[in-house]
Amino acid sequence: PQAGSDGFFGHPSGLKTLFFTEMWERMSYYGMRMLLVLFMTATLQEGGLGLTVASAAAIYGLYTASVYFMGLPGGWISDRLIGGQKAVWYGGIIIMIGHIVLAIPSEYSFFIGLILVILGTGLLKPNIGAMVGMMYSDEDKRRDSGYAIYYMGINIGSIIGYIVCGYLMENQGWHYAFGAAAVGMAIGLIAYKKTLPDLNGVAEKPANPMTPKGQKISWSVIVAFLVVLTITAGLVMTGTVVVDPITIAEYVAVGFTLIFVLYYAAIFFLGELNGSEKKRLLALLLVCIASACFWSGFEQAGSSLNLFARDYTDRMIGSFEVPTGWFQSLNSFFIILLSPFFAALWINIGKRFVSPGYGIKAAFGLIIMGSGFIVMFFAAQYAAAGMKVAPYWLVAVYFLHTVGELCLSPVALSAVSKLAPRRFAGQMMGVFVLTYSIGNIISGLLAGNFDPNNVEQIPNLYAQITVFSIVILLISLKSRFWETVTEEENKEKAA
Ligand code: GLN
Repeated sequence: PQAGSDGFFGHPSGLKTLFFTEMWERMSYYGMRMLLVLFMTATLQEGGLGLTVASAAAIYGLYTASVYFMGLPGGWISDRLIGGQKAVWYGGIIIMIGHIVLAIPSEYSFFIGLILVILGTGLLKPNIGAMVGMMYSDEDKRRDSGYAIYYMGINIGSIIGYIVCGYLMENQGWHYAFGAAAVGMAIGLIAYKKTLPDLNGVAEKPANPMTPKGQKISWSVIVAFLVVLTITAGLVMTGTVVVDPITIAEYVAVGFTLIFVLYYAAIFFLGELNGSEKKRLLALLLVCIASACFWSGFEQAGSSLNLFARDYTDRMIGSFEVPTGWFQSLNSFFIILLSPFFAALWINIGKRFVSPGYGIKAAFGLIIMGSGFIVMFFAAQYAAAGMKVAPYWLVAVYFLHTVGELCLSPVALSAVSKLAPRRFAGQMMGVFVLTYSIGNIISGLLAGNFDPNNVEQIPNLYAQITVFSIVILLISLKSRFWETVTEEENKEKAA
């Protein structure tokens, strides 16, 4: 179904529904995520969990990776069982309950809450992203800019989350901040329900429904999974089974990458695709690889850059000390500031020369992200020499990283929605969201080299990441995938 054209900045009115729902969901996600490590490492007297930094970092990595990993089953459930509209609705409800549980002060409720947020986000995140693209026909030129607007919603939401949860954490206590995330998601759910008709039936039903028998089996598998999950969580929480989060995090990095490869191969070889769909899927693979590499570097934001802000940055401006967490929100701030500029830039380049395709934009994204790490390399030299650097260094780094993100990330979402066959829309977005997950884990493993006791080594970390992004860039430029992407785009232009 083709939604109307005049609803939201010249886009289908359903974009407004998805924009605000995702905005509030991200408010709750990032608001809560900002608290996580701080809460886990705070002492029991301070109301925290009193965990070591290493354990907290591993749990944080496992959490963010699992959130995005669950997008895979989440996308599948929408394509084959319930459709995107219901997936977003129930996903949102589960997220909200998760945050409510987190607001209850107890160690048990903390882990149960996290599990609920993981399950809910898996249902919501890939499907809401896929639904944006479903509002445009294949020929519709507004798709890219629709995703750019949607991406802006993501970041307006995250900045609200940082501000509100950051404030409540400092002034009212942890559990008010967790509670605020629940309220944010509740507002998102109300907005969604109220404006659901604007979606004009997009993703109302599963795109490729299972037979009744298949449905029965699938639901049994889902219930069995939830039972196993509950039992495992119970055993771990009561201490019956002792697990080491750091070891698990290492296995998970390998496991998730393997699952990505297997899932992709399964769709490619067993998905009954025709020749052109197969070609598109190969092009999509490049989009995914570029994305995983990009986030592996970028996600230092939550880990080593965060610590760099805390320990090696002179955060005093006059008599005011800039809180460490504020540096995180620079990313969202720059996205909101720069998005309109980028929208105009692509259109202007397109008018004057030729519209830059996804491949070119992704390459720029990687180069600019890499250059941010060159800046970090120099900043870290000062740290290694025992000095604190001016805050502008990190501002410059976040600026470059955000420019890179704007070249690569919203465009990638658009490319996924364009290149994935409709009947796999949710699942392919799930596969794509899995690249966030892989990026987060690799980034965490890289950040493991950030050792405050071994400051001289820190510049090397950033040099490694720079080299890593340049190598990936060179390999992908040499690969034939770029041509596949360009070929597809040319064909679309000619049509
Ligand atoms: N900020 C983007 C979002 O929340 C991308 C997240 C990511 O880690 N890749 O959708």
